Amino acid sequence: MATIETMTSQETMHLFDRYVIPNYKRYPISLVRGEGAYVWDAEGNRYLDLFPGWGCNLLGHCPPRVVEAVREQVGQLIHVPNTWYMEPQGRFAQQLSERSFGGQCFFCNSGAEAVEAAIKLARVHAGKGRYKIITCENGFHGRTLGALSATAQPKYHEGFEPLLAGFTYVPYNDLAAVARAIDEETCAVLVEPIQGEGGVNVPDPEYLPGLRRLCDEHRLLLVLDEVQTCMGRTGKWFAYQHYDMTPDIMTLAKALSGGIACGALVAEPNVAASLRPGMHASTFGGNPVATRAGIATIETIEEEGLLENVERLAARFRERLGRLQSPSGVVHQVRVRGVMIGIELAVDGTPVVAACMERRLLVNCTHSTVIRLLPPMNLTLDQCDEACDTLAEVIQKV
Ligand code: PLP
Repeated sequence: MATIETMTSQETMHLFDRYVIPNYKRYPISLVRGEGAYVWDAEGNRYLDLFPGWGCNLLGHCPPRVVEAVREQVGQLIHVPNTWYMEPQGRFAQQLSERSFGGQCFFCNSGAEAVEAAIKLARVHAGKGRYKIITCENGFHGRTLGALSATAQPKYHEGFEPLLAGFTYVPYNDLAAVARAIDEETCAVLVEPIQGEGGVNVPDPEYLPGLRRLCDEHRLLLVLDEVQTCMGRTGKWFAYQHYDMTPDIMTLAKALSGGIACGALVAEPNVAASLRPGMHASTFGGNPVATRAGIATIETIEEEGLLENVERLAARFRERLGRLQSPSGVVHQVRVRGVMIGIELAVDGTPVVAACMERRLLVNCTHSTVIRLLPPMNLTLDQCDEACDTLAEVIQKV
């Protein structure tokens, strides 16, 4: 049997230096094990992880039901192509549909792929001549060329132009700007219900219902990118459920299958009907292991009452982190939507991330000045307090 001997972090880094393309900035630490809100490095140090798996590990590291489901499934059937029916994919699609707006699912493996599928579906559904999609500044939709073209952040475009044609960028949370951008070639509006990578930007309550109205008036599809907000991250299964509206299409990934790679697009049945056999595909999409893990994820969330725990955690984070906020101090604003948290600083957040790491707490910084936390929904209140104590200590020293 192939085994992996445990190397030191230094030894693993040497392998990367020689054999792995350096397209990521990495911390000089090799992680080897995880359990719940904790991860351990090769040297045996334990970290409290408030950014587990870049938002993918919404149930923490190695959630037992997901581990069990995957173990069982890999012994039964690992992969078969989408030329066959497979029960886990059908059952997971049913669960997602019943917890959202009654749509139908297309499965893939990542967020960018889900967005690609949404772009293609929006274009093919609209028909000839209508191909333009409106997206928002500071949004993030992925790195493949279509998803990158939808991502209105010039820093990510540099060197990869020309991009895919047909994207119009408007400021986020600005309905009038969307209305002005619509023309006879527009087929869809694509936005995140909360901008994640853009700094945890929560729109006004009228924004999503207003987009729905605009899309209805102009016969456009409303596509919500719920890759980062899905599966209870915001305290509801999907972030749009905080408002009185539904999208036509939503894209899902990250936490969809408890940390196992899985992406999906859910489309309202009339829209889904435009995607006919042969038009789009993904070899690994919807495979039995990923979808079985997805089913175990939903079961865990429901049986452990985790949506309710998200509300408890959000209240605690709001209360604890809110104390750090002051107009003249380092913390300008704290934005909490479930377990999706942005701490807007008046200074660069990089030293905060480094100082937290020294104290064995893992957090993220996005857009230079926003400390982003995407903690697991089964974090305990004690772990929440411990993390807030460390953050308060570090931020006071900055
Ligand atoms: N959409 C959103 C809202 C995201 O946050 C991300 C990744 O951060 C993506 C799409 C791209 O997902 P992936 O990295 O799985 O391709």
